[in-house]
Amino acid sequence: MRGKLVVGNWKMNGGLRQNDALLADLRAGWKAQDGRAIAVCVPYPYLWQAQAALSGSAIAWGAQDLSEYAGGAFTGDVSARMESEFGCTYVIVGHSERRAMHGESDALVARKAGAALTAGLKPIVCVGETLAQRDAGQTEEVVLRQLDAVVAGIGARLTEVVVAYEPVWAIGTGRTATPEQAQAVHRLLRQRLREAEPAAENVLLLYGGSVKADNARALFASPDIDGGLVGGASLNATEFLTIACA
Ligand code: PEP
Repeated sequence: MRGKLVVGNWKMNGGLRQNDALLADLRAGWKAQDGRAIAVCVPYPYLWQAQAALSGSAIAWGAQDLSEYAGGAFTGDVSARMESEFGCTYVIVGHSERRAMHGESDALVARKAGAALTAGLKPIVCVGETLAQRDAGQTEEVVLRQLDAVVAGIGARLTEVVVAYEPVWAIGTGRTATPEQAQAVHRLLRQRLREAEPAAENVLLLYGGSVKADNARALFASPDIDGGLVGGASLNATEFLTIACA
């Protein structure tokens, strides 16, 4: 049994007062359930706040990126060890916004996944095609290329990652992949994980891209979709908790 995981990606949103309210509402509203887990990935400056608000609860937290390096002259960067000092369980790696706006390559994403694992963090490795790539029939090629880079970079530690399929055309657009479209890609990814490392068949595969309270249940009912990576809807406690229970 793989269980379900729903992770909120706050992106560059939040503020001390709003976060206090959101984290308190999540803590009050989330009842630990067998086989279901939730987490929030917050901007770096709020890691301490997530740690303070969620320690001792059934809600995990994490960061949205990390440096591939352990430390040194890398102004503006944050290492996996630093994130782990703030109690992070997860770190998002290779989000399409970082690939597109910060030029992150497949190879860099793989090195970041390795750095996270070395520090004891669970990387949530994001893969996904753009609309142009989907329209050109390249979805499979693109997501497998992105996944293969990570597989090659981390070897047997593949069993310790979470993979999120996030079609770029569905992120923040209100346009969700249908359960059939998402399931088809998830099945492909699971097959590739199994081929690379038999035990990696049980890696959690999350879907991300305009997941909302009203579409989560249909998406999560698919056999290879183990939950979601949720952007906009994770900023509202009621909606996020509804998704987490879907
Ligand atoms: C995301 O940021 O990973 C995401 C899926 O965003 P949204 O849910 O807003 O589409």
